[in-house]
Amino acid sequence: MSPMDQALAEARAAAARNEVPVGAVVLGPGGQVLARAGNRTEADADASAHAEMLALREAARRLGTPRLIGCDLVVTLEPCPMCAAALVHFRIRRLVFGAYDPKGGGVEHGPRIFDAPGCLHRPEVVGGVQEAECGALLQVFFQKLRASNSIEIISIKGLSDHGSL
Ligand code: ZN
Repeated sequence: MSPMDQALAEARAAAARNEVPVGAVVLGPGGQVLARAGNRTEADADASAHAEMLALREAARRLGTPRLIGCDLVVTLEPCPMCAAALVHFRIRRLVFGAYDPKGGGVEHGPRIFDAPGCLHRPEVVGGVQEAECGALLQVFFQKLRASNSIEIISIKGLSDHGSL
């Protein structure tokens, strides 16, 4: 399975838990998988429990270092500003993402964290990998959410946090 396929598997698992379907994988310098995670904001009651944050923390724990030198992050959706800033702090070498997020993204949209003056570290960025597949997962999730009669405030909040695509 390619790293993006593994991220997609995490995103599907997140959808099955009624989380916004975003999945992420951290690869070590040799391409080995160090960590993989899906969104857990609802399950953990933690608004910062985005897939990227969880995978970065787990990878750093495994390596026993706060900086993931030479490591890459693969994620199904363009990271939000919080996660983009975390990628800078973790010194990620390369960011690979699937779908673009014009509403909630912070890399190619919004604050464009890596291009901001004073940004301490600028990861290489590859966007649009398996974009259709990654985007479709989110579209189906939000269509179901909107069709559902039991939309909760918390779900609507999640939608605006991640963009409705
Ligand atoms: Zn995020």
